[in-house]
Amino acid sequence: MEATQGKIYQETDEKYLWHSMRGAGPSPANLIITKAAGAWVTDINGKSYLDGMSGLWCVNVGYGRKELARAAFEQLEEMPYYPLTQSHLPAIKLAEKLNEWLGDDYVIFFSNSGSEANETAFKIARQYHHQKGSPGRYKFISRYRAYHGNTMGALAATGQAQRKYKYEPLGQGFLHVAPPDLYRNPADQETLASAEEINRIMTWELSETIAGVIMEPIITGGGILMPPDGYMARVKEICEEHGALLICDEVISGFGRTGKPFGFMNYGVKPDIVTMAKGITSAYLPLSATAVKREIYEVYMGSEDYDRFRHVNTFGGNPAACALALKNLEIMENENLVERSRVLGERLLEELAELIEHPNVGDVRGKGLLVGIELVRDKTTKEPAPVEQVNKVVALCREKGLLIGKNGDTVAGYNNILQLSPPLSITEDDFYFIVKCLK
Ligand code: PLP
Repeated sequence: MEATQGKIYQETDEKYLWHSMRGAGPSPANLIITKAAGAWVTDINGKSYLDGMSGLWCVNVGYGRKELARAAFEQLEEMPYYPLTQSHLPAIKLAEKLNEWLGDDYVIFFSNSGSEANETAFKIARQYHHQKGSPGRYKFISRYRAYHGNTMGALAATGQAQRKYKYEPLGQGFLHVAPPDLYRNPADQETLASAEEINRIMTWELSETIAGVIMEPIITGGGILMPPDGYMARVKEICEEHGALLICDEVISGFGRTGKPFGFMNYGVKPDIVTMAKGITSAYLPLSATAVKREIYEVYMGSEDYDRFRHVNTFGGNPAACALALKNLEIMENENLVERSRVLGERLLEELAELIEHPNVGDVRGKGLLVGIELVRDKTTKEPAPVEQVNKVVALCREKGLLIGKNGDTVAGYNNILQLSPPLSITEDDFYFIVKCLK
């Protein structure tokens, strides 16, 4: 596209489009992407970038997969829509396929976004306790720094105050504890104090008021915070001791991102509810799911007809989105992308290990193709690097042709953790391009 035409679109964009998180990117202006193939996206001026964030951590199989477009097109021609108050074949097949991926017996409720999948999980958990005769169990515990979505309940579960305070009051009954942060608090590995805090809060609040805990296996958007070994297993045990449900938010960590089908599988636990979105369709179409252990579902089936679950979602489980998701999972299986994520993730951490020699790199961590690089002003004090310095690194990567993210303890004013989450399908050349840009 001609430069003048590009500039006109840029101006029109600035005039009419209300962006998510406008201004979150490095200056100059945000990119207008017009084409994408594999791991690469091309902007309106013809410059290409390796998308080191898979969009928003979601294009797991990469861009330009014509089979996905075809699967959706064919389903739209055959039968574009029917609500899941009744049923249709793509949803049935996908629910069965998700059970294979989950490796256990779950019943699936479809929605359209990660936020909705979490809202659905909260409602299912609360009603479950109602039906078990404990209507006082309404509270959820989540972690500071975690992000769980933009709707009133999912935002209430989110532990990032600056995203919330202008919209409060949000959904009620959401409590937060500090997340594990092994870089700043390595002793947690021995004590599991961050898990015990959940135990304490459940006791102090009275177990009889707790509905559940929601957590990502690895906090992603809050800065790639890895759990200590044994943390998730201990949290699950605590939930069981207090009669609470464990909801795993797999919106980012699902579908191979951490080198396993779902992130929780790295930690030997079986959540009661699993929420997923993003990678389920590699973001080619909106779709999300709330997977619920059969024992919980069966408690519902014992109740009166309409009271089983008064929760309707017009678009959730759209047939084209489900057909596309099935094709997306088929691609992941045929190309062994989950294992590829594990292997390339390990290699990426090995390649980037030498960054730790740099005076401003405090930590390099991750699992699968999910990596965080924590920048500090001072390695001894671990004082986080200032935002301007981080922005410079992000902008430099962009100049070199690599798009990466940044995040951190944003309430404290820090955005000092660089984030990397490329498509799981990256080629060897892509892999070394990323390494070269970061070194
Ligand atoms: N949960 C996690 C962990 C997320 O990262 C996100 C979005 O980034 C959500 C939930 C919300 O998903 P959505 O933006 O599809 O509503």
